[in-house]
Amino acid sequence: MPPAPFVQPPLSGIPSYELCQLCPRLCSAQRDAGERGRCGQGNRMRIGLASLHFGEEPVLVGKGGSGTIFFSGCTLGCTFCQNHQLSKQGLGRDVDTAEFASICLALQKAGAVNINLVTGTHFIPGIIEGIGMARAAGLSLPVLWNSSGYERAEMIEALKGTVDVWLPDFKTMDPATAGRYFLATDYPEAAAGAILAMAEGYPLEYDEAGLLRRGLIMRHLVLPGKLEESGAVLAWFAKHLGGRALPSIMTQYTPIEALKGHPAPACALSPEEYERLLSLIDEFELGEGFYQELVPGAEWLPDFCRDNPFSAELARTVWHHSRGFMALE
Ligand code: SF4
Repeated sequence: MPPAPFVQPPLSGIPSYELCQLCPRLCSAQRDAGERGRCGQGNRMRIGLASLHFGEEPVLVGKGGSGTIFFSGCTLGCTFCQNHQLSKQGLGRDVDTAEFASICLALQKAGAVNINLVTGTHFIPGIIEGIGMARAAGLSLPVLWNSSGYERAEMIEALKGTVDVWLPDFKTMDPATAGRYFLATDYPEAAAGAILAMAEGYPLEYDEAGLLRRGLIMRHLVLPGKLEESGAVLAWFAKHLGGRALPSIMTQYTPIEALKGHPAPACALSPEEYERLLSLIDEFELGEGFYQELVPGAEWLPDFCRDNPFSAELARTVWHHSRGFMALE
């Protein structure tokens, strides 16, 4: 007799760390009882950095910069993660919801134009509570959800009272690639469902300065040697989100020396691939949106052990895992 199919348990009320089901891994870790899940994290938020960041899409940056908060741990675990010190090694410091709220308010005070939550899926309960606490204390900025796209649609619904702008990266529609690089053959299906849920009820809205205050930007990191997969993702965007979201195509893929030995493309995008990519962008008539120039080299890769992991032009640190709050120069 074949085994009974696994039935995903329904969510009951507010997302929690108990028998954790926050992401599609559904690993049921008892995070409230001290266990760590596949994401590597327990039930306290852990953060590596909060900074004013000037390298995001122009509609998210303005004059003050995007108020990025980089969380430690990750639910997807790409083999080529440029933030591997945080996502894989767990670099960071545990914070309670009150300190998280203080970090949001410090970013606002420093001039940030939004709060940009980078890879927060495994901390959804703490984030909902912490943003609520910050809002009650005067946070008025839009909140961005900057993620791998590997999400449960149910969790996206739970976040809708908290998040104003969605910023998922739809990396591939090929289950084989997702299995090889993320150990997640369900990634394409999960990401497509989550991104469609994000778009529901989120038409693009801008403020007087032209900054995005509500809506969806769908990113796509182009993988060298996988241009046909980029074509599939762009075709999906054109079909499902064309005209109601912004595409943002990223060409910054860089092999990571510290992750050598893991399966991942071994070189950056070539100029020939970049030209083919530009043709694809034209072919799908994606409308308003963004794409990166091809910038060779790895000097820009962040090092989260430094007070400012990025260059001075790209970011200014407001809070650091080893230093706490830092005075802006
Ligand atoms: S968020 Fe972490 S603990 Fe929860 S299901 Fe996903 S991997 Fe497991």
